[in-house]
Amino acid sequence: MGWLNGYVALVTGGASGIGRAVVKRFIAEGCAGVGVMVRSADQADGLVAEFGDKVVVSVGDVRSPADNVAAVEATVARFGKLDTLVGNAGVWDFFAKLERMSTEQVAESFDEIFGVNVKGYVLAASAAAAHLRASGGSMIFTLSNSAFYAGGGGPLYVASKHAGVGLIKQLAYEFAPDVRVNGVAPGGTVTPLRGPASLGKQEKRLSEIPGFEDSVANAMPLKFIAQPEDHTGHYVLLASKANSRATTAAILQSDCGWEIRPM
Ligand code: NAD
Repeated sequence: MGWLNGYVALVTGGASGIGRAVVKRFIAEGCAGVGVMVRSADQADGLVAEFGDKVVVSVGDVRSPADNVAAVEATVARFGKLDTLVGNAGVWDFFAKLERMSTEQVAESFDEIFGVNVKGYVLAASAAAAHLRASGGSMIFTLSNSAFYAGGGGPLYVASKHAGVGLIKQLAYEFAPDVRVNGVAPGGTVTPLRGPASLGKQEKRLSEIPGFEDSVANAMPLKFIAQPEDHTGHYVLLASKANSRATTAAILQSDCGWEIRPM
């Protein structure tokens, strides 16, 4: 018996990194099926090859209202309901400093980073809302240490993740008592998280930064860098009504102790 027996979930950005680990763990916890929203057909093929008929994959852009609606509808059409939305697709800014960008670049990067990290979450919530009210389900959004502290990115990424805190609180307020709304805030994690095309960083990956793993591990009180799997238990807990039905508007920090790190 898993903690999510018979549940149906939708995970955005579920082809790689933290999202993919959540898909795998949800299936292991007994999910009847998981909808996965991905960016490309290649990513879709890889998921179907690994998870077969336990997943229904939608290719789309989280900034598109129609693509979010299509992902929700594909999930409900295949598995009959929706219990859990995991908004997770994101882009990082590779510490882009305001003064190193032209004002034009700032405007474009703002639109891209906030488009994926904030608008993408709002649109997913909107598309899934009626189905989650019907099932008494929940929403979980992936935030970051950058939702609370400076230094985990440049101003655009940090501001986008801080915005996620407000989004979670206000959606939790709006959707109570029917739908719980919570977040998970990972710290530095070994994933291929990319940058924005508007800064020419769409092919750069976080995990390829020289020395990234050691520098995060050394800076954190727990002295290791997380793998995507290290965060998945938090998503299971928050999704499981039997285990967290009194929890809404909460954000679980999974960051190896960022707040208490030595300066
Ligand atoms: P990842 O790149 O493996 O996952 C992000 C996914 O989002 C990718 O599969 C990508 O294809 C998808 N995506 C990006 N833009 C999209 C778009 N416009 N439409 C649809 N899909 C899109 O990286 P990850 O680290 O697993 O990132 C997942 C979440 O974790 C993000 O929200 C990120 O901000 C957050 N996070 C990551 C770290 C870290 O150190 N890796 C730390 C804190 C928070």
